Amino acid sequence: MHSDSRSRFLIETCNVRGQLVNLDKCWEAARARTEYPPNVSTILGQAFAATALLAGTIKFDGKVTLQVRGSGNVHLLVVQITNDGNMRGLARWEQEPANTVPVEVFGADARMSITIEADRYSEPYQGIVPLEGNSLADAIRHYFAVSEQLKTQVYLAVSDTAVAGLLLQTLPPSEHTVDDADGWVRACALADTVTEQELIQQAPQTLLRRLYHEEQVRLFESDKLAFDCNCSKERTDNMLIGLGEAEVLDIVAEQGEVSVNCEFCDAYYRYDSVDVAALFKGYIGSPDSSDTTH
Ligand SMILES: [Zn+2]
Repeated sequence: MHSDSRSRFLIETCNVRGQLVNLDKCWEAARARTEYPPNVSTILGQAFAATALLAGTIKFDGKVTLQVRGSGNVHLLVVQITNDGNMRGLARWEQEPANTVPVEVFGADARMSITIEADRYSEPYQGIVPLEGNSLADAIRHYFAVSEQLKTQVYLAVSDTAVAGLLLQTLPPSEHTVDDADGWVRACALADTVTEQELIQQAPQTLLRRLYHEEQVRLFESDKLAFDCNCSKERTDNMLIGLGEAEVLDIVAEQGEVSVNCEFCDAYYRYDSVDVAALFKGYIGSPDSSDTTH
């Protein structure tokens, strides 16, 4: 099955590497919590496919986040993927945009950022670009054009049940690469013929055979992708500890409990006064913590 997966391939005779992404259950889970208007849903779906493709071009042990913020009808779009292929994402909107052209959806002031948080780096890497072109795919191409030396082409497709994407990238020159200046042009010209429907429905093997049957293609084993939020009781504990005991006790006094709702997956974390007392006693060590029996 090609659903919820990312497949890498090489078009050896073109000096091009690529990826195909297909998300169905993951995409269904991403939309389960919120009833998105069609144009918002489309652009969120494109962002899911684009983020999976983007992450596939880099080696990282952490997470990659694609985010768009602006003052338009949709003011926030965020999609995140971990190195294990766990994805989550959401969009926030005021009004349904009339189309899916990025600057009209997000506003002329909108910026797209790609953030890579790798466990081995202390500082996250962030690239920020304005939203260029008529589609999110154009914006992603523009991002690659300014941030990568390697020529990159991206195709995105969204249907009611699935999202899909295709990425092509020139291979860095090496002694192993074939000297074929026309390879990139040929690979892209063929990819340009792919319809959204094909991208969504065809298995990688079938699609690559259809496109590149005259080329030498190697398809590698695919990576599994899934919707999985990384929120947890522990992270929520830490967030509350960050707020401070006085603040948290105020909330309990006012509302009887503290309830934290994850916007990505709809998980609820609830704390009553006993939980709050345990939380601050455990982490900060209140003066009477020496009384604790073991
Ligand atoms: Zn969550």
